[in-house]
Amino acid sequence: MTSPALVVLNAGSSSLKFSAYAVATPTQSDANGPQRLLTGQVDAVNGAAHARAESADGRLLEERHWPPDQAPGHEGALAHLLAALPHWLGEHTVAAVAHRVVHGGMHYSAPVRLDTAVLADLDALVPLAPLHQPQGLAAIRQLMATAPALAQVACFDTAFHTTQPAVAQAYALPPQITDLGVRRYGFHGLSYAHIASRLPSLRPSVGLRTIVLHLGNGASACAMRNGESVASSMGFTALDGLVMGSRCGALDPGVVLYLIDQQGMDVRAVEHLLYQQSGLLGVSGLSADMRVLQASNDPRAQAAIGLFVYRIGREIGSLAAALGGLDSLVFTAGIGQHSAPVRQAVCEAAAWLGLALDPEAHAEAAVRGEGCITRPGSRVQAWVLPADEEGWIAFEACGLLWPA
Ligand code: AMP
Repeated sequence: MTSPALVVLNAGSSSLKFSAYAVATPTQSDANGPQRLLTGQVDAVNGAAHARAESADGRLLEERHWPPDQAPGHEGALAHLLAALPHWLGEHTVAAVAHRVVHGGMHYSAPVRLDTAVLADLDALVPLAPLHQPQGLAAIRQLMATAPALAQVACFDTAFHTTQPAVAQAYALPPQITDLGVRRYGFHGLSYAHIASRLPSLRPSVGLRTIVLHLGNGASACAMRNGESVASSMGFTALDGLVMGSRCGALDPGVVLYLIDQQGMDVRAVEHLLYQQSGLLGVSGLSADMRVLQASNDPRAQAAIGLFVYRIGREIGSLAAALGGLDSLVFTAGIGQHSAPVRQAVCEAAAWLGLALDPEAHAEAAVRGEGCITRPGSRVQAWVLPADEEGWIAFEACGLLWPA
């Protein structure tokens, strides 16, 4: 007898992340969500690629390198994964695949079962996210061709933000531009939905007005009221808002006009500058990796971290205004969960809101990777919580395919 497994795919610009879960009927509590069987990723798919997979209990399943002249590309990486999965999964067989899809546009506010009509809708959104949407859709298309009987589900980074009021989604542009779909969507929604699912178990102390800081290589902030998104730092694209690893974050659109008009840069060159050469990497001139910057004595590294923190502090003020006050602040993702110096500096920037960091609790959370980090009487509570976008995708997809 075999048991069904759900595979979760997260196809990025140069990587393919994957996990597999034992199929389970989800309950409201995230803690009772699907049980992870294995996880792994293929990095640098178009160059010196490297694959690694391990079981949920940490057993190494595979470690493999490809030389650059044999780079598998996204398609080869997925084909490799599909061939390897039956060996890794043992008694489980792949019953369905769920994908992280960056953009669901105005229409998709919940996970959806994929067919050719839905895929056509999602294809039409590529111009809104040309750097992020195509890889996910290519994986879907590849599976439709090679395993047409396999159920596939798309889970969207934008979906969580569809609860935002119209005023939070609007740009001050004429309606004919808005009607093209030019509005604020917000991203990192799968991470925010997972964090929102954990908030009820932390109440009443976390209160109803929360700002979640997803601080990873991509970084954004989301204001939630009672677990629903009411505003976020990212807008039309995943370029807006906070300083990121190599993305600039909020920028006066006049800068783009100046670079094109006065500096003779073409659109692709500006795109490359803003997505790949800016942010922590651009300011420091050293690295997009927070660990490297924290370990460096170079003043440019400290300037980059200083700007990163300053902009988070300003965004907290803006989102607290959208919420009409603040009860709690949550740190998540690579930097949010693991960088104690960044958390401390952000908490100091938010002290005016009544947030009092507890050094002992902070040190404890740094060891455990989660926990409350503010003093018992602090007016605003701060928490560290781990991100789990893939676990959330599994939870959503199981809810759709195997409802209770
Ligand atoms: P993510 O995109 O969520 O995987 O996060 C990636 C970011 O987290 C990179 O900038 C890493 O440098 C950062 N990061 C991971 N671990 C640490 C750590 N121990 N201290 C500081 N930054 C970290």
